[in-house]
Amino acid sequence: MRKIITIITFLLLTILTFAGTIRNVKMSGANLTVDFSGSAKPKYKINYDEYNKLIFLEFPESKLDTKVNEKNFKNKYVESLQVVNYGGSVGFFIKLNKNISYNGALKGNDFVVTFNDKSPKKQFTIAIDAGHGGKDPGAIGFKKYYEKTVVLAVSRYLRDELKKDFNVVMTRDSDRFINLSERPRIANRAKANMFISIHANAAVSSKQNGVEVFYFSKKSSPYAERIAAFENSFGDKYGDKSNSIAQIMGELAYKKNQEKSIGFARKTTNALASAIGLKNRGIHGANFAVLRGFNGPSVLIEVGFISNQGDLKKITSPTYQKKMAQEIAKQVRDYFY
Ligand SMILES: [Zn+2]
Repeated sequence: MRKIITIITFLLLTILTFAGTIRNVKMSGANLTVDFSGSAKPKYKINYDEYNKLIFLEFPESKLDTKVNEKNFKNKYVESLQVVNYGGSVGFFIKLNKNISYNGALKGNDFVVTFNDKSPKKQFTIAIDAGHGGKDPGAIGFKKYYEKTVVLAVSRYLRDELKKDFNVVMTRDSDRFINLSERPRIANRAKANMFISIHANAAVSSKQNGVEVFYFSKKSSPYAERIAAFENSFGDKYGDKSNSIAQIMGELAYKKNQEKSIGFARKTTNALASAIGLKNRGIHGANFAVLRGFNGPSVLIEVGFISNQGDLKKITSPTYQKKMAQEIAKQVRDYFY
């Protein structure tokens, strides 16, 4: 009998001496604390799977003496936490969110994982120019839909998308009037790396439809000339003589920016046409007042025809507007990263 008691005492002592006991697991701010208070200094192993953003933290010869409600550990750092008790060890699977790094260390008898937000500093600035606004409604389509309203909605969705990876400046974020020449100036002042002007097309024939993207060119085809003349006319109409807008770009910069704009324009029109199911009207170079004077690649996207029933349905639908913004943002990301 005494022998049995000795063995039991020995076993108990073994457990008490060598087992770390986790009394509490808590998340506060950027710290996840595994509290071993009152027990021996814990042993631990920590591994990190970069691809899956998964930390595996193991405490051998330990037991869990607390209830962990895993759902409460989801926050801006942690996507998920799973605690597994197995064979005398306790394992923590901590899946990190995007752009989060971590540090794990013993602090006294606690093990503390500290998370850091390492999202890279946004390097590039994109200028979004919602066409028209205020007293200038732009084109007016079926059921009195205004171009200025449609393009502001798309521009706002585009801002929300781009803000994830870029600094964003908007030439207007409300229904207000801004001169054509002021728009590239706003972008230049913000040191924008790209200028995206959002417009909607209109035609006398309600059969005309589709998406097309313009880049700045001193020379235009007769068709592109017509579109540019239409968009530029709003400048003249509201007292901003488009021919008074200075051409501040040098010849070399002009050629370089044009080349970049063409590549971006082509990808964007293809992406929009296929994702939204719009007719692909291609890309065109034209002398747009609003693109003149911006020091970088710039495009003017005519997202569809406000004068066509089919296009109108899509370009006024928040679902499609958001989808368009996502497609444009995807092209911007591909361009810069
Ligand atoms: Zn327009």
